[in-house]
Amino acid sequence: MVSLVYHPGYNITAFGLEKRHPFDSLKYRRIHDALIARGLRRERDFSRPCAVSFRELANVHTLEYLGSLRRREALARILEVPIVASLPRWLIDWRVLKPMRLATGGTILACRLALEHGVAINLGGGFHHAASAWAGGFCVYADVPLAVRMLYDEGKVERVLVVDLDAHQGNGTAEVFEAWPWAAIYDIYERDNFPSVKEAEDYPLPVASGLSGIEYLDILYDTLPVALDKFKPDLVVYNAGSDPYVNDPLAGFCLTANDLADRDLAVVTMARERRIPFAMVLSGGYARDSWKIHADSIEGILTRFDQE
Ligand SMILES: [Zn+2]
Repeated sequence: MVSLVYHPGYNITAFGLEKRHPFDSLKYRRIHDALIARGLRRERDFSRPCAVSFRELANVHTLEYLGSLRRREALARILEVPIVASLPRWLIDWRVLKPMRLATGGTILACRLALEHGVAINLGGGFHHAASAWAGGFCVYADVPLAVRMLYDEGKVERVLVVDLDAHQGNGTAEVFEAWPWAAIYDIYERDNFPSVKEAEDYPLPVASGLSGIEYLDILYDTLPVALDKFKPDLVVYNAGSDPYVNDPLAGFCLTANDLADRDLAVVTMARERRIPFAMVLSGGYARDSWKIHADSIEGILTRFDQE
């Protein structure tokens, strides 16, 4: 059975702060509620993570970077919400950073559950613009590098491939991975979009705006199996951003909701055909119906892989 990880504390609701960023801060709860409403899971079927600790964060982040998060101006820039600079620090920590530390704990738990059960999905996480010493694009903690570093140090994994299909380049993850020969990133991203400075990657696939679902899926079907067979990971972490969606306000691809469900099912199928443990995190997605795209895609994965 596919393991699902979720905590009600993922949702960021800081007195209207969430309305100042295109991110739907209740996206996670809406997905969780939809999976229950569709009869796919009961409340008690979700695994609840603990928030990542400061000491765990220091496994990947520099102390200088973690210290800089105490400065409201630095946080306002990372979160792209200028008003953060005028809020009390305790409020930002409680209502914005704590949810992100919980979601980071969720990514760590999902990776552990993937190694135990085969397939696990964190209904959050995927903060791929956070590097070890800098961050941006609404990402504060490098959840995926933190999770895989922990498993690597414990001797539970030897080679990890991140498949990043969020529309934006996973520059933070790529920067961390550059120093880790055992970790690689495969990344289809929009060439002329955020971030303006791209990082070097193992399997970069920069593509032009306006790409259709068929064109996108052709690239995926042609290249991901090659990367999997070449790198031979013993864990795949999938950054399943839904922002390649045609109606997404922050990206320029033209995939339909069906294309995105096909994409997600294809990625998990390619990993499981090779018997590779598979953990998925949600990452970006800024359309009003992003939650439904994720819920539909996860329903497809559960339908296919719950019996595995
Ligand atoms: Zn994105």
